[in-house]
Amino acid sequence: MISKALVTGGAGGIGSAICRSLAENGYTVYVSYSRSKDKAEALAAEIGGYAVCFDVSDASEVRKAVSDIGSISLLVNNAGISVVDTFDRVDDSTAQRILSVNLTGTMNCSRAVLPGMISAKAGCIINVSSMWGQVGASCEVDYSASKAGIIGFTKALAKETAPSGIRVNCVAPGFIMTDMNAHFSPEDLALIKEDIPLGIFGRPEHVADAVAFLASDKAEYITGQILAVNGGMVI
Ligand code: NAD
Repeated sequence: MISKALVTGGAGGIGSAICRSLAENGYTVYVSYSRSKDKAEALAAEIGGYAVCFDVSDASEVRKAVSDIGSISLLVNNAGISVVDTFDRVDDSTAQRILSVNLTGTMNCSRAVLPGMISAKAGCIINVSSMWGQVGASCEVDYSASKAGIIGFTKALAKETAPSGIRVNCVAPGFIMTDMNAHFSPEDLALIKEDIPLGIFGRPEHVADAVAFLASDKAEYITGQILAVNGGMVI
């Protein structure tokens, strides 16, 4: 049987590595995008998958896309946004958008795929949090709150759905070199590197390997867990 995997934000830095890795592991991958149409279509063509357009924060768009795909066995909630500023300077609509995409988006996609997984009595959901969801980041307070919410959501949903044969886990990346971190100056990067015990920045493939493991049968007895991929930055 062909296993379908849906990866939200699949055309992004970490998302594209996850899509490639899952395709190598035999999944038919649905690369979800909201704006990066060209990138998503090129990646889908490269890995023999499909590009699908929807905004994770819009529950009805999500439901329609999930129903069009049909019988998804693996969902990776990877889409996310971040804004770097002090908490008092982030305006209401930006703060709402961060929560809507990162946390509500994760919940929307999970709610949409669950009926199919429950009737199949099998399925796997992997959420992408952040080390800042574990310990909090100054100047990324809304982002940290959204990512901490994903950790709580992972644990609660794992308990609720385990009797239905569904595993729900989470990865918490550290500092991974993608567009999300493109605003850092070389001087900032040098300072950040000093705080990484393993002494190297993370690559998207490091996160993709953790996701592939959690999705695999090798993790069949693992649910509700937060797997840190951070070079020792948060232990
Ligand atoms: P990225 O910006 O390259 O990728 C994010 C993707 O999400 C993009 O493709 C974007 O188009 C998509 N997206 C944004 N809003 C969306 C929406 N409303 N609907 C659908 N898709 C949407 O960044 P990345 O570094 O690859 O981040 C991927 C995930 O990893 C994010 O959840 C991020 O918070 C998390 N993360 C990243 C790092 C890091 O250091 N890069 C660290 C910890 C966690």
